[in-house]
Amino acid sequence: MDSQQIEDMTNKYVMNTYGRYDLVIDHAHGCIVYDMDGNEYIDCVAGIAVNNIGHTNDKVAIVLAEQSKKLIHVSNLYYTQEQASYAKKLVERSPHDRVFFANSGAEANEAAIKLARKYTGKGEIISMNNSFHGRTLVTITATGQPKYQKGFEPLPAGFKHVDYNDIKAVEDAITDDTAAVLVEPIQGESGVRVPDEDYLPQLRKLCDEKGILLIFDEVQTGFGRTGKFFASEITNVIPDITTCAKAIAGGIPMGAMLASETVASAFKPGDHASTFGGTALACSVASCVLDIFDDLDLVEKSYNNGQYFRDALELLKDKHSCIKDVRGHGLMIGVELDYACGDLVAKAQEKGVLINVANGNVIRLVPPLIITKEEIDQVVKVIDEILP
Ligand SMILES: *Cc1c(COP(=O)(O)O)cnc(C)c1O
Repeated sequence: MDSQQIEDMTNKYVMNTYGRYDLVIDHAHGCIVYDMDGNEYIDCVAGIAVNNIGHTNDKVAIVLAEQSKKLIHVSNLYYTQEQASYAKKLVERSPHDRVFFANSGAEANEAAIKLARKYTGKGEIISMNNSFHGRTLVTITATGQPKYQKGFEPLPAGFKHVDYNDIKAVEDAITDDTAAVLVEPIQGESGVRVPDEDYLPQLRKLCDEKGILLIFDEVQTGFGRTGKFFASEITNVIPDITTCAKAIAGGIPMGAMLASETVASAFKPGDHASTFGGTALACSVASCVLDIFDDLDLVEKSYNNGQYFRDALELLKDKHSCIKDVRGHGLMIGVELDYACGDLVAKAQEKGVLINVANGNVIRLVPPLIITKEEIDQVVKVIDEILP
């Protein structure tokens, strides 16, 4: 099949929920993806912050092959060594005591919301305008962007939105029925919005005073993306619940919801479940991913190369007055322009770089954390060339 046939077949048989770019990806390795004609692209999309260890890592390939011969899946009615070992490893990396395994970010957030309600006995969840928490009915409701909710009413009850980075707005929204505040430590999907340094510490303090739970959605910010293992470490705030997914298992579907012993104890057998949650296969790959983080110092790489990347992008500001802001932490970078810049995606692609535009006017750069300085230089050169 050639690229056109693949695109036509996809457009005929797959439901039309994605606005796809005109590119068929054939294979990938490290930071580079290849199209059907063998053209190379530096991948600054990385599955949208999924391929943090890079594409088709050799160690992951071995673990996948070996584990698939030993055990892929059994029901959570049984114990497996793979799930036990990975649960310990992940919990010990986190500020939490226990984990629930799911298969996606939305599912991890669903689990967090259920746990918050069960633990507090209260219904209301406060989340932020311009947030993103997933595409299930509950998570589009928590998501503070009406475009994702339109046409899917009635939405579940018990959700309220306030402005991001506005502590007073949260305070005013809290009632006797508030169970939790759900927040991304850095907003990703709506354009890499970084809150003021004191915002998350103040949220922690407010939640403590009011006796409500603080949930961090680290689905995008987790796993080294922001130059820390979790973005919560940037301002040393420990939430009551953390949700993860995206990069957790190197592209194998997996989600996780982590909580303290006290909060987690509200869940009893039967309260929540997932057929595929924490399969032996996903857990062994996720465990290998954590080893790769250590072997390659990926968190530190993300911190240092992120700084290098942002510094280089800052320098473009002098030449291109359309750049309003360069922001982010680690390798979660947003370049805000003063115009709707969706056309830059195709232009960058033509020059061998995959980028993504968030919120209409923000170039979002979330490459694999193994990206090299040379590759960053090349990306910056291309951005320089395509900007007006
Ligand atoms: C991507 C994302 C989600 C949704 O994850 P899925 O795996 O697509 O369900 C939730 N929250 C944040 C912050 C995300 O970036």
